[in-house]
Amino acid sequence: MTHQDHSFDTRSIHVGEEPEYLEGSNNEVVAPIYLSSTFARKQVTNHGRFEYSRTSNPTRLALEKRYASLENTQFGLGLASGLAAETLLMFTLIRPGDHIIGFDDLYGGTKRLMNQWKEAYGLQVTLVDATQPSLIEEAIQPHTKLVWLESPTNPLLKVCDIKAISEIAHKYNLLVIVDNTFLSPYFQNPVQLGADIVVHSVTKYIGGHSDVIGGAIMLNDPILYEKLKFNQNALGMVPSPFDCYLVLRGLKTLSLRMERHQSNAFAIASYLEKHPKVDRVYYPGLPSHPQYALNCSQASGFGGMVSFEIKGGEKEAVQFLESLDLFTLAESLGGVESLIEHPALMTHSSITRQEREQAGIKDSLIRVSVGVEDKDDLIRDLEQAFSKI
Ligand SMILES: *Cc1c(COP(=O)(O)O)cnc(C)c1O
Repeated sequence: MTHQDHSFDTRSIHVGEEPEYLEGSNNEVVAPIYLSSTFARKQVTNHGRFEYSRTSNPTRLALEKRYASLENTQFGLGLASGLAAETLLMFTLIRPGDHIIGFDDLYGGTKRLMNQWKEAYGLQVTLVDATQPSLIEEAIQPHTKLVWLESPTNPLLKVCDIKAISEIAHKYNLLVIVDNTFLSPYFQNPVQLGADIVVHSVTKYIGGHSDVIGGAIMLNDPILYEKLKFNQNALGMVPSPFDCYLVLRGLKTLSLRMERHQSNAFAIASYLEKHPKVDRVYYPGLPSHPQYALNCSQASGFGGMVSFEIKGGEKEAVQFLESLDLFTLAESLGGVESLIEHPALMTHSSITRQEREQAGIKDSLIRVSVGVEDKDDLIRDLEQAFSKI
């Protein structure tokens, strides 16, 4: 099965797991978990398709074919975590003294990684509000190497114009990286919009069941792909075959899950928007969202992440969170179960208070990863927790 023959829903089930996907296989319908760390050869200087599992492994290869297919790119790489994917990109693309431009609302771990590269390798970083593409252009310096985006962002669900920013960046020969974790390849394909590289935390929607840590990189440039593949092997940032199997399995229901995440998220965002104890709701699927039209123009959906500011501050937020029954108070997102958290005290505590305030992450902010449970059960749980504050 080639990439473009079938629709997304079909490819998410079949690509990489065609029964004949390995020569000499037993026509398994599900890709076997190839645990072997090494592969025998007949001749000393000539190895077969596989040599050593850090370099390449049949289960991982099946998954990498599917990654490329789902983002509509030539190449896919499977990594041990989203941050391993980001570290590989930094190691491969950044040289001492380089400058990068990022969205000011990037994932906290991405900002922390950039801060570490600042100290160790003299990287310069400028974070801007990428909802205004002109601010990206203004931040470009002679030694700028790349632009790092998310859309929508975490946790404020800001949306940036990937096409317009890619056009600006390419005028100056900069690479554009988009972390597409929040919408998943089901709702958005940044390379189709002009970005050069997509990165995912597979831990979230792609895996979908909160039982695996993984990362992915998708791209079209064969030279850059070879460099990344070489460095991945050299640095050893590989996922286990068992993890690859879990992700292959999770991906088969990605489209079903994303549709349900989205319809539940829309119901919850609409409920919160009318609630007297809520100050503000952030969800790109609400027509009141400032970049609603932009998101409609570049993605086929809005995803399952909703953030809101509760009336009051940290005290009310904490009391509300600790009163919930069905929502699990936990970091992470994108699994079938609904998770809820307090960005300032949890996911974004790794960045400084000053950076948080600059980015607009208040102490009253709550982030919800809306799961695929019954939406009325979820809303009832929110209602009873609101009644406790
Ligand atoms: C979780 C996350 C990451 C980091 O991925 P890990 O798999 O936890 O290493 C990066 N970007 C976004 C948007 C995330 O949500």
